Amino acid sequence: MQREFKGIGVSPGIAIGSAYIAGGLREEVPEYEIADPEAELHRLGVARDATRADLERLYRRTEAELGRQHAEILNAHLMLLDDVTIVEELEKRVRTKRRNSEALVMELTRENVELLEGSEDPMLRERRDDILDVSDRIIRHLMNDERAALRDLEDPVVVVGSSIPPSEMVSVNLKSVLGLALDHGGATSHTALLARALGVPAVMGLEELGNHVAEGVTLIVDGGAGLVIAEPDAATIARYRSIREAQESDRRRFRRTCGEGPCKTRDGVPIEAMANVALPIEVTPDLRHVAEGIGLYRTEFLFLNRGTLPSEEEQYEAYRQAVEAMDGMPVTIRTMDIGGDKFITALGRPREENPQLGWRALRFCLARPEIFKTQLRAVLRASSHGPVRMMFPMVSGLSELREARAVLDEVRAEFDRKGAPYDRDMPVGIMIEIPSAVAIADMLARECDFFSIGTNDLIQYTLAVDRGNEDVANLYQPAHPAVLRMIRDAAAAAERADIPCEVCGEMASAARYTELLLGLGVRGLSMSAFALPRVRTLISRTTLKDARALAARALETALPEDIEAEAKERADRLLAEDADSDAPFAMEDRHAAPAP
Ligand code: PEP
Ligand code: MG
Repeated sequence: MQREFKGIGVSPGIAIGSAYIAGGLREEVPEYEIADPEAELHRLGVARDATRADLERLYRRTEAELGRQHAEILNAHLMLLDDVTIVEELEKRVRTKRRNSEALVMELTRENVELLEGSEDPMLRERRDDILDVSDRIIRHLMNDERAALRDLEDPVVVVGSSIPPSEMVSVNLKSVLGLALDHGGATSHTALLARALGVPAVMGLEELGNHVAEGVTLIVDGGAGLVIAEPDAATIARYRSIREAQESDRRRFRRTCGEGPCKTRDGVPIEAMANVALPIEVTPDLRHVAEGIGLYRTEFLFLNRGTLPSEEEQYEAYRQAVEAMDGMPVTIRTMDIGGDKFITALGRPREENPQLGWRALRFCLARPEIFKTQLRAVLRASSHGPVRMMFPMVSGLSELREARAVLDEVRAEFDRKGAPYDRDMPVGIMIEIPSAVAIADMLARECDFFSIGTNDLIQYTLAVDRGNEDVANLYQPAHPAVLRMIRDAAAAAERADIPCEVCGEMASAARYTELLLGLGVRGLSMSAFALPRVRTLISRTTLKDARALAARALETALPEDIEAEAKERADRLLAEDADSDAPFAMEDRHAAPAP
């Protein structure tokens, strides 16, 4: 019988295939007494060595195929494998409890996982996946159990499981893994990011889906809507096949209609259409054709899931690669926005009571100038290879901007003393994502070269709605007039100071907000690469006059849902202009970006 499961859509697209239940941690392992603890410790040592060899092999392959950044995830696993406290505790239990290693590894893993699950920090909870992954590998070697890793799957499947560790995700066989339907994880998990970057439709947070579906049943994963349908009937399969075809044909159609090069409205107003990037593999050769540059390079993902901070050299290499790949187009490198929901293992920081209002982004960088300077040096070095713009996140007042610029000046002076090359005209801009920055936008605009509005945070801080909390998701309203007035005011201040004003939050990825943003005065949009053809097409079909009229109505509309409906209906109509009237049309929502 057909059943529906609602989760969080973290990677858009539709997958239809049979369920493959991925082995998470086993529920049961054999348990028995041992006579000779030393022999048992030897057996455990052999399994740990084999696990280390697996992880090292995987590290080398991942580094070669996906780059060092992803390979670093495996380094975190290797560190766990050799964690002295864990190893000593295991050895102690083998000697005192005189039970077999599988049972003791399982016991200790459960204790550690329980501790992490009790944590309120989502990033700490995500660390449980790493622990489960390492212990599962050890148990597999102890039991000589060689269940197929995802990379070895041959038939195309939808992977169901409690979670997929990032170490497996980096090596999936994309021909076989059609989609993911997982019990745990959210949009910020590394596995979600990888799914998005690799184009695998994924739904997470499904809570116990694995207990409700058997291996081999047919599943539909709708990654845009965050929905999984088990045992769909023939009519549902046919409907989703046609939605999938419509999405694919839309994608091809918008790729044709979006044009290349500078993007303009129907009445000829240039609007810069740029790409957001979080992973080096997202900088594909095709990006240069649909984007006019990278409007947001989220550098903090270089810092996640690893035991040590990336060196200046490693950061420089990542930035240089993006600059060279974009071949003359600007690359906007945002200095690290760690903290909030992005937990950095390497810093070993204690959990904050209120991390979204805490030691985040620029606040952290200004307090740790050595870490900040290392990044600034890497960015300056990259600026000698092509046009780079530097952007500071979470600016709440003028003094922070001045302090950040002073640190940058120190690093520049260092480069001048050494005669090291860098771009002396590199623009320095700020994210507008805190209401206080909007209120003093005129002051900030006089002291920086561009604004980029981070709507994800601006909405959260303006409406006091946690952007990651499902319980208040209905109050997270991009079309709230308070948010729209903030965007209008920031854009107006930028215009008066004669600097560009862009938007790089998720609002820029959703075509239903494109006209609103243009009408409010925004002249640059930076978004996920998959959204670019659709949004560019929409820009080319609207006029500034229409966009301004819609924005003027929106600014005076008290109920966000009223303006949402009108904006969506207009966007759908404009996008359908050249569609074959008989072909099914995939609506905007099905392409919506994952919840920010
Ligand atoms: C934003 O806040 O809109 C933004 C782009 O930054 P992030 O999502 O990385 O906080
Ligand atoms: Mg932000």
